[in-house]
Amino acid sequence: ATPGVLYLLLAWFFFATPVTAINISSFFVMYSKAFIEAQEQTALSNTLLSEFQKNSSDWLWATSANGNITRFDTPEFGEEDPNGHNFIDYVKGKTDVEDTNLPVLAKLFSTRENIRDVVVKISGQHSARWWRVNGHPIIEKDGSFSGYMGTCSDVTSEKLAEQRILTLAESDTLTGLMNRTAFSERLTQAGANLERYGRPFIVLHLNFDGFKLINDTRGHVAGDRILAEASERIADEVRDGDCVARLGGDEFAILMDSQGDAGAAARLAGRLISEVNQPYQLDGEEVRIGLSIGIAMAPLNGTRPDQLLRNADLALYRAKADGRGVFRFFENTMDAELRERRMLESELRDAINNDELVLHFQPLVDARSLDTVGFEALIRWEHPIRGLLSPVEFIDIAENSSLISDLGRWTIHRACTIAREWPDNRFVAVNLSANHFMRSDIVAEVAEILSETGFEASLLELEITESLLITNSNDVVEKINSLKTIGVSVAMDDFGTGYSSLSYLMGVPFDKLKIDKSFVDSVVDSESGQSIVRMISTLARELDLKVTAEGVETREQAEFLKDVGCDQLQGYLFSKPMSNEEMPSYFLKSTKNKLVESGADKTPLDQKTA
Ligand code: C2E
Ligand code: CA
Ligand code: CA
Repeated sequence: ATPGVLYLLLAWFFFATPVTAINISSFFVMYSKAFIEAQEQTALSNTLLSEFQKNSSDWLWATSANGNITRFDTPEFGEEDPNGHNFIDYVKGKTDVEDTNLPVLAKLFSTRENIRDVVVKISGQHSARWWRVNGHPIIEKDGSFSGYMGTCSDVTSEKLAEQRILTLAESDTLTGLMNRTAFSERLTQAGANLERYGRPFIVLHLNFDGFKLINDTRGHVAGDRILAEASERIADEVRDGDCVARLGGDEFAILMDSQGDAGAAARLAGRLISEVNQPYQLDGEEVRIGLSIGIAMAPLNGTRPDQLLRNADLALYRAKADGRGVFRFFENTMDAELRERRMLESELRDAINNDELVLHFQPLVDARSLDTVGFEALIRWEHPIRGLLSPVEFIDIAENSSLISDLGRWTIHRACTIAREWPDNRFVAVNLSANHFMRSDIVAEVAEILSETGFEASLLELEITESLLITNSNDVVEKINSLKTIGVSVAMDDFGTGYSSLSYLMGVPFDKLKIDKSFVDSVVDSESGQSIVRMISTLARELDLKVTAEGVETREQAEFLKDVGCDQLQGYLFSKPMSNEEMPSYFLKSTKNKLVESGADKTPLDQKTA
């Protein structure tokens, strides 16, 4: 059923049923009162009444002025005789200890008010039952009170149906898990149990990594299938007593009855991450998503539901910032950090317009001749108060908002404008965020920038990271192909650090592969590091890709990389990234360098003038 139908059903139960019941019951109470008053003692009335009782689940009850039962015709407790017992004591003996309506009934009874549709839960031997109680004080003509008269109905089947519908309304239709509303209720309950009985619990806030990309590129139907399967995996890992909910989108939460055991939460989180990370089959292709988790413990990190959810959310935020695919426990400093981030985000919005962003450039040299063949543009933020900020401090902030596209567009435009003035056809490489690449019409954007700046397309190289390929989407391949058609090259950045397998790589028409610094570091003292780099380089040549190695800091590394067939090298050994102002003198030096033909002199270029 669709949610709309459920809500209708629900509304029907909440409004229609009780209203009808009130009408019928009060009519019956009124009718029977008058009837009984007139004919109480006659045989006829008894026949009629028992006839009525036989054909319905309703029965009569009455008390004397002192509150003791004079009539209680339930067919259920046939052997026992409730007559003479106090009415409230009798019902109390039958009801569930946790029933919250019994006090209501007792209060009405003691103050001699009308009792209308008070439903109490009867603890049966096998399964619970519910009675709906109606009653009316009997006031004699002289104004004196002579007892109660009323009806009881067994409303168990109604109640069960209502509960079933509530369960449906409490669950998420896609995954069958509890929904946000139901989860908050459980959380409130857990908070109350904590206060009353000191029972600690733990809240885990889960969010998928890379799911949005799948949804955007593969469509919602595919996204829903992944969601459903992932949530099944999550539910499988959780113990029976704990609840799992889908809060919305790709956000989930778990309420864990933990006995305060942080280790148990950590183990669960670890299992969840590895399970969700297993590949999913989508139209015969393997797709992967990741999972990040934030954890808040009650009472350590709060007791109120909103507080705990928020703190788990802050911890989740940290897990995301720490590279995703991990879990983090809440810490008190996270709150301040978040405020800081928010501030930075709003400042970053202005930074683009206030000319506070600048590009620095780091040379890429030919591995054999050591000639500078191009530069990578690396963004910096000249923050008015904080000073020069590195991209690692703010790209991630932009990444989660529309800012990343503005920033990306600005960077390409600025890089082309500057590189247009460089001598000797040096290319410029620009880093592109995967989010920007996916969300915008990147091909049209680049074409427009090229025509605006008059920059030569073949000298523009875009660096994108593997995270883009998680989806292995045709869309990505199409965009890269179109970029190549307009003459722009595309390099895979940070190769080896992401999830992508070789088969992914083969399907994507990159021009170049940049071996990540971590591998370059490893060639110095590790043989396995060396063989990995050798393998990557061999493979790249097989695939007809150029290979660049980044983060080259020593001559040994440079030698090794050249020997295994890397085409270009980049790193502090040759030069750190330079501001635009430093560029002219670098060009001058490299030209001079060439003139002197200092093949023997391998002093890093940037150290020559130092
Ligand atoms: P990346 O693309 O891997 O860039 C290389 C980073 O390594 C740069 O840091 C560079 O300064 C540094 N590096 C280069 N050679 C060496 C070396 O020999 N030793 C060491 N220790 N480091 C070296 P940077 O400029 O801080 O950039 C960090 C990351 O920020 C970049 O990593 C890139 O992913 C991102 N980034 C930079 N500029 C942009 C941009 O304009 N847009 C986007 N979306 N991301 C950018
Ligand atoms: Ca890069
Ligand atoms: Ca890198």
